Amino acid sequence: MSSVAQDSPGRRVRPFDVEQLGRRLASAPGREDSLRHVRVLPRRDAVTTGWPTWVHPDVVSALRHRGIDSLWRHQAVAAEAAWNHQHVVVSTGTASGKSLAYQLPALTSILRGRGARGERGAATLYISPTKALAQDQLSAVAGLGLDVRVTTHDGDSSYDERDWTREHGEYVLTNPDMLHRSLLPRHERWSGLFRSLDLVVVDECHHYRGVFGAHVAQVLRRLRRVCAAHGSDPTFVLASATVGNPAEHAARLTGLDVMAVSHDDAPRGEVALLLWEPRFTSYAGENGAPLRRAASSESADLLADLVSEGVRTLAFVRSRRAAEQVAATTSALLAEIDADLPLRVASYRGGYLPEERRDIEHALRDGRLLGLAATNALELGIDVSGLDAVLVAGFPGTRAAWWQQVGRAGRNAGDALAVLVARDDPLDTYLVTHPEALLDRAVEQTVFDPGNPYVVGPHLCAAAQEVPLREHELDLFGPYARELLDQLTETGRLRRRPHGWYWTHPEPASALTDIRSGSGRPFSLVEGSTGRVVGTVDGGSAHATAHAGAVYVHRGETWLVSSLDLEDRVAMIDRVEVDFSTTARELTEITIDRELVHQSWGAARLSFGVVDVSHQVVSYLRRRQPSGDVIDEVPLDLPEQNLTTQAVWWTLSDDQLAETGLLSADLPGAAHAAEHCSIGLLPLFATCDRWDIGGVSTARHADTGRLTVFVYDGHPGGAGISRRGFDAAREWLAATRETIRSCTCRDGCPSCVQSPKCGNQNHPLDKAGAVDLLSALLADAPPQ
Ligand SMILES: [Zn+2]
Ligand SMILES: [Zn+2]
Repeated sequence: MSSVAQDSPGRRVRPFDVEQLGRRLASAPGREDSLRHVRVLPRRDAVTTGWPTWVHPDVVSALRHRGIDSLWRHQAVAAEAAWNHQHVVVSTGTASGKSLAYQLPALTSILRGRGARGERGAATLYISPTKALAQDQLSAVAGLGLDVRVTTHDGDSSYDERDWTREHGEYVLTNPDMLHRSLLPRHERWSGLFRSLDLVVVDECHHYRGVFGAHVAQVLRRLRRVCAAHGSDPTFVLASATVGNPAEHAARLTGLDVMAVSHDDAPRGEVALLLWEPRFTSYAGENGAPLRRAASSESADLLADLVSEGVRTLAFVRSRRAAEQVAATTSALLAEIDADLPLRVASYRGGYLPEERRDIEHALRDGRLLGLAATNALELGIDVSGLDAVLVAGFPGTRAAWWQQVGRAGRNAGDALAVLVARDDPLDTYLVTHPEALLDRAVEQTVFDPGNPYVVGPHLCAAAQEVPLREHELDLFGPYARELLDQLTETGRLRRRPHGWYWTHPEPASALTDIRSGSGRPFSLVEGSTGRVVGTVDGGSAHATAHAGAVYVHRGETWLVSSLDLEDRVAMIDRVEVDFSTTARELTEITIDRELVHQSWGAARLSFGVVDVSHQVVSYLRRRQPSGDVIDEVPLDLPEQNLTTQAVWWTLSDDQLAETGLLSADLPGAAHAAEHCSIGLLPLFATCDRWDIGGVSTARHADTGRLTVFVYDGHPGGAGISRRGFDAAREWLAATRETIRSCTCRDGCPSCVQSPKCGNQNHPLDKAGAVDLLSALLADAPPQ
């Protein structure tokens, strides 16, 4: 994130009455029942403070020159901590100037650390999840005009640039991939940098979750070891959009004790939040289920209304295709009002050059552009804070992401409007009908398991290659480190010598794992017409997302998969414009390997443990877009895949089942419906995507002898998701029951119990029975 020009409290913009505007949107014909909730967040005044005395005078004057005359309190508190060698995580809202928290100590120590002849004395390593973000940071720091040697080190850097960075770089911007593959394995060549490293910045650290988070946690531990080997002990400053557990998350990532600064002292205008649920429009769903109007179509209507009132609005949608669709529909609607208005709406695609991005940012800022439809703007590297309104087409997966998108609205701390337009699925339905779950609950805790043995193993090899591993260091790598080292020694990967473990192979140990790939060796995505490798798809999900006939969305672009070669791990794809999407369906079987913990809820039992899952993608559904109407189902012939992972499961006794009054013929459908909806709701409690998790339900499972519903992590060894489900089970399953109970459909629909990835054609499903089972389960659940 770049630093933000701060406005004094007297300069607020109040262009419109946001609540009035929201009500006006909802009064249009056909929308009477769509507005489910309105909440107005009060304005918040800034708390400012002066410059800490230790900040280098050149840094102060450079920032003053950019219009920053004082600090917000949270910036000063975090910067002060870092200056005093306290590891700190800053977790405040969008546009709260988090970057100053690390720029002040970083730039000051670089300037003060210089040798007599200007040689490097102190250095900062800035780590971001995307190259685009590093580029933004580069221009922000370089733009200060200070005499600081700031440079990027990423896959695009030339050899000359790398040499220069190694010799002279003082503020080095990189990413976890480069650390893993380049900087750490070759640390001896980089000893000058590592020796002088006194600050490590981990920006947007909430991105590091799930399996990727577990990998980055290992990379950062390796970084700490390498620094220690070169005699440095850098302070870590982490920055993140609001997360529920910043100190815990940062500690798990770094393995250090980290202080959290999460009280936001930046000013904010009044914000009206609207929760919006499009109406049912057809009965073209599976098994004749009713379907709601697509969130993207509804958002196009709302965008047109807002633009016609001169309200600068950003609409967040899922794919580039959807962005283009929304922009085109909006333009067509506006053309009926005024021939000039369509020119003031655009869609934003990935792959723009930095100058093109800046052009769009400027056009939005000065009002030439009034409406923009875009996919996640952070990934695309565009700075679009400072709008009047934000439309979010579909819950973005986490409350943290939702608040981050809301935070884009509010030009110069002026008033703003934000609308969540619900998609037709259980999570969105739950949120718009239970505003407190979205608006009043703390943002979710990011989850990952830094001890995941599938992740840790290869990093132990990489660490041993970097600096031989000693017995006393093993705690750093989690509870399984010793066991894993013994296995790695036995299989000949590592060699045990009196003083520790050594890597003795010629190839780089870092090649053993790809930190971006969740499971298995990734598949390459190859463009059929050119033979160009466009990207990769995770080995664990290739069957489900890149099978022949799949419509694959890659960085917002739509592709059609023509074939999937399992042997060579290649999917051939071509750019297409199609009016349908695909969803794979899979059959799953599960056996319990071992139960690790359990809770008894009366006669019901809730468990967490290790399971073996075998699953097979058997077909895919084609759905017309944007309506979601089912076109057909196409069978596939793919082999079974096996996975050892973690799961949470619950069982009911036969007596409890008898008390529900359900017939035994109803039980499979009831359990199946409860399973589907609970998978849809779990992302509310664990930071994950519903595609990261799977489920199995059965009226009688061989391992438990009882009715059992499993929800498992889709990655080998688990990603911490089902564990979070176990810990939050009462709340999670109560929300599941509530979603099913309150859905206004009759027999089940995509908003409650139907699942897009069901391998059984969403059959059988018993909506009412699911409520009965969940009630029996929750009857004796203790408060959590
Ligand atoms: Zn329903
Ligand atoms: Zn199913």
